[in-house]
Amino acid sequence: MTAKDASTSTSTAVTEPGAGDASGVPAPDASVPRTAGGGEAGTAPSVPTDAATDVPTNAATEASTDAATEASTDAATDAPTDAATNAPTDAPVEEKAVSAAPADCARATEEPARAGDPVRRGAASTVGATRTGPTAEAAAGAGPNRPAPVLSVRGLSVRFLLPGGRRVDAVSDASFDVAPGECLALIGESGCGKSVLASALLGLLPANSRTAGHAHLDDLDLLTADEPTLARTVRGRRVGLVPQSPAAHLTPVRTIRSHIEETVARLTGVRGRAARRKAAEQASLRAEFPRDHLDRHPHELSGGLAQRAATALALIGDAPLLLADEPTTGLDRDLVDRTVDELRRHVDDGHALLMITHDLAAAERIADRVAVMYAGRIVELTDAGAFFGSPGPRHPYSRGLLEALPERSFAPVPGLPPELGSLPEGCAFAPRCDRATDTCGALPVLENTVACHHPVPAPAAGPHATRTPEDTRA
Ligand code: SF4
Repeated sequence: MTAKDASTSTSTAVTEPGAGDASGVPAPDASVPRTAGGGEAGTAPSVPTDAATDVPTNAATEASTDAATEASTDAATDAPTDAATNAPTDAPVEEKAVSAAPADCARATEEPARAGDPVRRGAASTVGATRTGPTAEAAAGAGPNRPAPVLSVRGLSVRFLLPGGRRVDAVSDASFDVAPGECLALIGESGCGKSVLASALLGLLPANSRTAGHAHLDDLDLLTADEPTLARTVRGRRVGLVPQSPAAHLTPVRTIRSHIEETVARLTGVRGRAARRKAAEQASLRAEFPRDHLDRHPHELSGGLAQRAATALALIGDAPLLLADEPTTGLDRDLVDRTVDELRRHVDDGHALLMITHDLAAAERIADRVAVMYAGRIVELTDAGAFFGSPGPRHPYSRGLLEALPERSFAPVPGLPPELGSLPEGCAFAPRCDRATDTCGALPVLENTVACHHPVPAPAAGPHATRTPEDTRA
């Protein structure tokens, strides 16, 4: 069955939650800053290992926290107008983006985050060396035959400054492009920095963070844009987001219908109650959210249904770039495939998609290119067909990830990832790598798709022949 066939067969097949939906609404990770003010730097490290949980889905979910109190009086009628009025895009901005930056990390570490600082976004700064020039451009996937990217990231680094002068290098020197009609899957183990990278792109890092590099959304640098610009013109409108923990981003006292109708009104300009209602139901169908669940509140949804509600919300604005952070969490395999196929249709309509996932099967099904992240660095960036087929990954870690799949060797990568607060000087994968030599004491840079001193040689064509995403989805 082709992807197109799949889309036809699934778009009308609204069903009751599958087995995977019975997992329930995921509880917030205890290590995650609690709310937008959760980074209590003076009391506990505010390193968002699950930072995307601080990222609002779109205009509607941006409204969730601030609107919750007032919306409670509206909940009986689910009046979206009132809730929309409370959206933070119209609210006073608490904190401006800080453009004055520490000169370097050494200085930055002397500036511990202040207790009570609002968790919004860190300052732009120069944190570590950033490669530029033709080599970095090639490593990022840029090239004369590629269309102009929607998102162009160069040398993105994120540091968290902790009490006692400690520092966490969450993301280091990440460079990549995402073009219209392209899906780039960012994969890696939990805690490798994927979600922190997403939060950096949306300007939603804790106040004790420092960023460096550039992230151009067309002509706007997301790393230096001020909060009003991000809130009013970027989130939801130019960048749609499927957050990692959607239940935490939905206003508990409002129904899903209310969330969707408000977002439709704000982002599409559809006017009139009947038209809004129809548009909301169409939006829910796109994400396989069952119509007969639209009048439920977030606490009445399973994790899978909350995920689908978040996906529906993210697609409404028709943003040129969609950022999906673990969009298949909590879904059973059938719903994973259907969600991924819907996202792929969004890509095939000309949108760019950056999908963060540790679900390699989902990545294989949807991605045009794959970026593998380890210990905060992109260690491999290559075409999905070559990665999942032949010649396969070149980086030993990437290869280990694939070989850990049940349908392959089912052998886990030995050892554990390093702490991002105490990374070694050279290759961070060395303690787990059977190809390590003394050379690996020097940090490898990303060149010719891989950052490794001894990449795995390209094997002869084996059982996993070159596959295209279309092959996988068929
Ligand atoms: S640089 Fe060395 S230690 Fe790191 S992945 Fe390559 S071979 Fe292994």
